[in-house]
Amino acid sequence: MFNKPALFTEFPALANTLPYIHLGIFPTPVIKLSDLGKSLTFQNLYMKCDNISAIQYGGNKIRKLEFLLADALKHHKKSVLTFGAVGSNHALATSLYARKLGIHPIVHLYPQPVSDKVCQTLRHHILNKTEIHQYSDYSNIKNRTRYRILCELFKRGKKPAIIPSGGTTALGACGFVSAAFELKEQIEQDLLPKPDVIFLPLGTMGTAAGLAVGLKAAGLKTKIHAVRVVPDTMANNDTFANLYRQIVQFLNKTDPSFPSVQLENEVYIDNNEYGDGYAEPTESGIQAVELIKDIHEIHLETTYTGKALAALISNTKKLKTKTILFWNTYNSQPAPEEIKKLSICSLPEGLHGYFE
Ligand SMILES: *Cc1c(COP(=O)(O)O)cnc(C)c1O
Repeated sequence: MFNKPALFTEFPALANTLPYIHLGIFPTPVIKLSDLGKSLTFQNLYMKCDNISAIQYGGNKIRKLEFLLADALKHHKKSVLTFGAVGSNHALATSLYARKLGIHPIVHLYPQPVSDKVCQTLRHHILNKTEIHQYSDYSNIKNRTRYRILCELFKRGKKPAIIPSGGTTALGACGFVSAAFELKEQIEQDLLPKPDVIFLPLGTMGTAAGLAVGLKAAGLKTKIHAVRVVPDTMANNDTFANLYRQIVQFLNKTDPSFPSVQLENEVYIDNNEYGDGYAEPTESGIQAVELIKDIHEIHLETTYTGKALAALISNTKKLKTKTILFWNTYNSQPAPEEIKKLSICSLPEGLHGYFE
């Protein structure tokens, strides 16, 4: 069954102007985590299941890619270039869905701590025949991107679509503006009470900022507790406010009936769970992952969702009587079995170390 984005129901003019292609299954379900709620002494703990946002590969990036890859198709792009850490869920999701749409996927990958999950992600790239370029750091990114654009121009006669890290642009974030309207519909259908606060991880911020714009535009007074998992030079109150403004301006320019909402104090950036760095597991994050696995057999990870759940746990006292929505952003569809048997020799040599 095809459901158009909830944003388009509310603002039909956007449906005619914004590029959109259907990749996921929406609305994603909301479930009550009664047992975890009980063990943490919450009365009302719910989870938004973006972990199953698509059949092939879920997670939060699908909502952004529905707009971003549609834009690539609209411009008749033959290839797409994106960026991320070696285990980036965004880079993998972009590659998988680009391939599905007949667009050649290219990723620039940067180092992150070694883990089984990173290996699985790389094997999945091998299966999908992603064109991988590996770099040792984020410097010189502009020149490298320019060089790759030229390569593609020669090879395919056309520049690639460029998608920034995490798929965070004003257009990409529209997926999460829409998610807020989707949530509003679910509240109206009595699938959950209006949440007082949403807990989620904060990376490139498109998820949280899109939701914040959408909640405001939808008239929902739900707060967002955004748990920072990247360096504070990337995600902070200023960069967040800036992105929020860009999204509002973009939507308002595309459809003047979209309200010029403003960010007040509804988003709290939690800096307490970051630990030693991006993708560096923390003790509290590991425990949170264990807890929800033991109680509900829900599988999170320690880079994003584990840290977000850890923040929820450490704020238990303050939240006892509140309605809380944990936004599960991590794909839970299993990787294809056959990736285990793939040889890693097609990977750039510098990545072989992750498998030792
Ligand atoms: C990318 C990602 C996030 C962060 O989303 P942003 O929009 O980049 O802030 C959170 N959780 C998971 C599992 C992710 O892959």
